[in-house]
This record gives sequence, structure tokens and C-alpha cells, in this order.
Amino acid sequence: MAMTASQKILAAHAGLDQVSPGQLVKAKVDLVLGNDITSPVALAAYREAGFGKVFDPERIALVMDHFTPNKDIKAAEQCREVRLFAREQGIKHFYDVGEMGVEHALLPEKGLAAPGELIIGADSHTCTYGALNAFSTGVGSTDMAAGMAKGIAWFKVPAALRFTLTGSLGRWVSGKDVILHIIGMIGVDGALYRSMEFTGPGVAALGIDDRLCVANMAIEAGAKNGIFPADSVTRAYLRGRVSRAWTETDADAGAEYERDCTIDLSAVRPTVAAPHLPGNAVTLDGIPEAPIDQVVIGSCTNGRISDLRIAAEVLKGRKAAKDVRVVIIPATQLIYRQAIDEGLVGIFLDAGCAVSTPTCGPCLGGHMGILAKGERAVATTNRNFVGRMGHPESEVYLASPAVAAASAVLGRVGSPEEL
Ligand code: SF4
Repeated sequence: MAMTASQKILAAHAGLDQVSPGQLVKAKVDLVLGNDITSPVALAAYREAGFGKVFDPERIALVMDHFTPNKDIKAAEQCREVRLFAREQGIKHFYDVGEMGVEHALLPEKGLAAPGELIIGADSHTCTYGALNAFSTGVGSTDMAAGMAKGIAWFKVPAALRFTLTGSLGRWVSGKDVILHIIGMIGVDGALYRSMEFTGPGVAALGIDDRLCVANMAIEAGAKNGIFPADSVTRAYLRGRVSRAWTETDADAGAEYERDCTIDLSAVRPTVAAPHLPGNAVTLDGIPEAPIDQVVIGSCTNGRISDLRIAAEVLKGRKAAKDVRVVIIPATQLIYRQAIDEGLVGIFLDAGCAVSTPTCGPCLGGHMGILAKGERAVATTNRNFVGRMGHPESEVYLASPAVAAASAVLGRVGSPEEL
């Protein structure tokens, strides 16, 4: 039976010639990821199970990104626990303040994800690495503990939806608009426990940062994973980052998909997700004119250098509206350095923005920009659930960096075209 790309990666890691949707398989994983919130829970399970040494200290990544630099004593204690475990186990890819970044921006940058690999992470946005043709998915902390100890995990083989991309993106339209458009179309459970496989001639027109953004939000449609094919854009990104051999994996001809959607990229318009679901997608002409209090540009969805370049292009020579607080968070140290070297940070400071060291910070209502009751924000993050960024009576509009930057200047949700 013909298999999808995701099924082929699972089969290869399970040592099977064939898998089919719904089948339970035990597969070897290439990398296990945890962060400062989920790792302490996994470590408790790890100890309770009586595990000793990890299966491979070079195939575990522990990233202290959510509440770091530590926002309070609890966060400090959590990081210390993970730090001590990493030292004791000789974990190679332990990233702490000063070299850490938001995990799903950091791991690709460090060359820890490659085509054909199987990656699990105790974080729902682990699906991001599908942009690099890996099968990657979020797991619970107990699975993370077992994965760290044994290098294996159980999977139920997902069925798949196929998204055939055609055309190319217009001015001020990005991967964020594409994925918000798709989630708006299929709903927040439209891909429940399915693979979202992206294919077609339009893929070539998407840069890696756009693909990472699209794959990152597959989980917001309920997907098990999102995956792109590997092409020359992928290879150019991996060059200099990944020295190990990788296996580029395409779906077989005749692979079965439960649903086939064609997305004409040239028809996608700047799109936002209105409160309180990523599926509340609306184009900008459908947004009521309401003042905003804060703009956040950053996160594992849109904190990469191309995102900051677009934001700087919009903000250059302009000022944030008087009553709007603008927080810009480069997703990794390297991106932060690039933003300084390219003069982007100067543009942001001149525009009246606060620029932070890498952290998840406000994305999950952690720190660095919590919303008060009744406040409204535009954010380049991936979730706008009730209370996600602060008070339960605050509101978040999810948007691209271009729209977020324009909104900062306009003082309401708006487009760069209006400036
Ligand atoms: Fe999760 Fe937000 Fe951090 Fe991404 S930036 S890992 S979505 S908290």
C-alpha cells in the first residue's frame, strides 16, 4: 500500500516495510526535546520509573526558554533542576540563558532537525520541524521520560490531509497568513490527529522561515504533525548546519489522503485570527476598528530574522502609536545578533519598541508583556485562547509580523498598505 511521507518516516523508524493509519507502532526516535516547564515533570517520571542513564546524551535537547531569564523563584527552581540533570547526564544540547532561544527556532538553527528524522518533544509546537521534512510531534512528559531513557516512543500512525500549494505570495503576505487562512478553512479540529502534508509547486516559493511558521501551527488545527517535502530551499538551509546523512522522504504516488485541498498562495490576503481561537480567521477588511494596547513580535512562530526584517521594514522611520506598548523578541541569540548587526534593533528602538533577550515570555502569559483586564493585543504568536497572554478578559489577535508592525503604528489592527 502506498504511504504518505509521515507514514514512511514512522515505518522506517519502526523497522517496518509498511504501516497504515490507526496502527500502533514502537519507533526509534532521533531526538527528544524538553523545556523548562515540561522537563521537570518528565524528570519526576524518569526517577519514579527508576531510569538511570539516558539512551544517548547527544540526542536529547533541553531548552530553558519559557520563563527565562527566570521570572520568579519557581521558574528558577525548575531551571536548576533541569540544569543539574543535564550536567549529571552529560546532555550535549542543553541551552541556558545566554545561548538559548525559543526551542522551535533554536533546534533547526542548531542543525538538530533534518529530513526523514523522527523527533518528539514535550511541547505541542514540536511539529515545527516538519518544515524540514522531519516527522516531529508533541508528546506528554511521561513519553519524554521514556524517550530519554530508551530512545523509543509509541505512535498511532496518522491518516493525512494533503494541501497542494500553487502560485506565490503577494506583497505583505507570509506563511502566517497562509496557515491562518488554512486553519480558518478547516477549523481548529479540522486535522485532528492527522498529518498535514504540504506539497505542490507553491512550496518552492516559500522560504524556510515561512515553512517553519506553517508547520509550527499545524497543531492549531489539531494535527499530529505537519510536513513539507525537502527541496533546494531545504538543502540550502541545512548546509553548514547538518553534517550527518539524512533521508529525504516524499509520499508514494497513490498515497491516500482523507481530504485534498488546493491553496492558491497568490489569492491569500493578510489574515488575522480574532479572539479567542486560531481558527477565527478574518482578512483585514473584516476587522472592527478597535484600539489596541500592545503588540508582540516574536515566538517560535514568527521570531525569526525574516520576521524581524519585515517588521523593521514597516517600522523604519515611523513611531509606535502613543498608547501602544510594542515588545519585540528575537527568537534566538543568533537572530538577536543578526538583528543588531543589520540595524534592525536600532529601527525598533527609534520606533519606541522594547527589544528583549530571547524568551517565550508573553506568548503564554509568562512574563515580558502580560495583558491586564480589558486590554487588547496583536501578536505574532500562535495561540489566542482566553487568558493566553494574561487576564481572562484580555484579547489577542494573531497576525503576521507585517500586520503586527503596522498595527503598532496605527494603534489598531491594520495593514502596512494603510501607512
Ligand atoms: Fe510555546 Fe509560545 Fe514558547 Fe512557542 S513561543 S514554545 S508557543 S510558549
